[in-house]
Amino acid sequence: MAPQAGTPPHGWRQRLFGSLLGQLRLAAFTTVFLGFTAASAFTVLINQQCLLRQQQAGQRQAATTLTAWLDQIGSDPSLANTDQLRQELNRRSVTERLFWVERSDGSLLLPAAASSEATASPRLVELSMASYQDSWSRQSFTPLLVGTNHRLVKDLEGNSYLTHPLHRSADGSQLWVAEDVSTNIATFRTILLAVAGVWILCLVLTSVAISILTRRILQPLQDLHRMAAGVTSESLASSHLKLDQAPLEVEELAGSFNDLLDRLALAWSQQRHFVGLVSHELRNPLMIIGGYLRRLQRRGQNLDPEQMRALATTEAETHRITRMLNDLLDLSRSESGQLQMVLAPVAVDEVLTTACDLARSQLSRPLLLTLPKEAAEGPIKAVAETDRLQQVLLNLIENADKYSPPGRPICLDLSQDAGKLCISVQDQGIGISPEDIPKVFDRFHRGRNAIEHERGSGLGLSVVKLLVEAMGGSINVESEIAVGSRFHIHLPAA
Ligand code: ADP
Repeated sequence: MAPQAGTPPHGWRQRLFGSLLGQLRLAAFTTVFLGFTAASAFTVLINQQCLLRQQQAGQRQAATTLTAWLDQIGSDPSLANTDQLRQELNRRSVTERLFWVERSDGSLLLPAAASSEATASPRLVELSMASYQDSWSRQSFTPLLVGTNHRLVKDLEGNSYLTHPLHRSADGSQLWVAEDVSTNIATFRTILLAVAGVWILCLVLTSVAISILTRRILQPLQDLHRMAAGVTSESLASSHLKLDQAPLEVEELAGSFNDLLDRLALAWSQQRHFVGLVSHELRNPLMIIGGYLRRLQRRGQNLDPEQMRALATTEAETHRITRMLNDLLDLSRSESGQLQMVLAPVAVDEVLTTACDLARSQLSRPLLLTLPKEAAEGPIKAVAETDRLQQVLLNLIENADKYSPPGRPICLDLSQDAGKLCISVQDQGIGISPEDIPKVFDRFHRGRNAIEHERGSGLGLSVVKLLVEAMGGSINVESEIAVGSRFHIHLPAA
């Protein structure tokens, strides 16, 4: 029987961190996320710098004459000609840009409102200069100002102005500028939104691409897993893992796996040969020993009860080992194609009656046989071999007895349906767990509850299945823990 090919379900944590697929996806996604975020932040920064530089260049160009005036007045106060300076301030201040001078004594020289086109009010001047004294005003910075010494202030109409001291002369007078940047801020916000949109879109698209590509890359590994899971002890020799268009590494892995399979197949066949040989060599002496033990028991009138008990135990153990060797021999013969079966129409009702009679002599519990009414009219026949069918029935009855509490009955019944005969062997025993049911017919498999209850080899049911299938039939089991088990044998009717 093939082993379970499916993998047990895993939690999301294990699927993400404990699987190659999850780790690959995580690594690729993290790299892409960091890359896109860095690229987007860099784009935003470059745009900010460009806008600021453009603005500063405009301001410096407009302020050339003003700074020259200030420097001259600073080095020679007699040259101070406030009218000329005010005229220059009027000339340079326009709607979007306002210049003013803060003298070293703290007094202000503003452009004359009448002659200037600037809409900036003294209130704006006050706000601008206050923003430099109030360190909290830094909190109103926008991303536009990151890394600069500019301040952003708003006038009463809600326009945003970027302000800063533009020039300082030798006598301490400062030339200030305030520039309306409402349009620039709007432009910058649009750029930010666009970059964020592109960032999200790229992340989504690359996540989908990463998911598809990583699955494709790992597909050959999953194919390998599927094929390897399908290899059973029976198919070892003929199994070869073959992958089409697999990556080099996976092909190498498949190659090593195939070498391993070849070595395993050789070792397995040598082992089977050895087991067959040893079983054959041991069986005959054991049968002779068994025969002598039975004779001794029959003629043992001069033995005391303890000696008789010892003889009975030895005889039972010899019988058990002989049965096991017979099972091993049957399996070994079937593998080498030497299991001979002479199939002919067999009266199944009669075989069942004989098997029950034989079993009753050994059992200390009720054994009930139910035959269909047709049995009264004549034998019910199936294509089988009498001895092997009896062996199968005795094996199932023995298991039912072994795995049931004392006193509970074992029921056998025969029914006919659509060209098939069905024999059921039912007990009210410990039952088989759902995990064990698919494996009970596997060689050497013993159910976990059975291991606690009784000694056994795990060979009985595999031989039963082998014999039933060799007779062209099939066998299956229904079972429930602590309720009981029911084995069904289907044979072709003759
Ligand atoms: P063994 O009985 O020597 O262990 P078998 O091949 O006869 O080996 O049976 C395989 C396993 O199937 C047993 O170990 C047991 O777990 C389970 N089994 C078989 N028959 C029964 C039964 N009638 N009731 C409960 N479990 C059973």
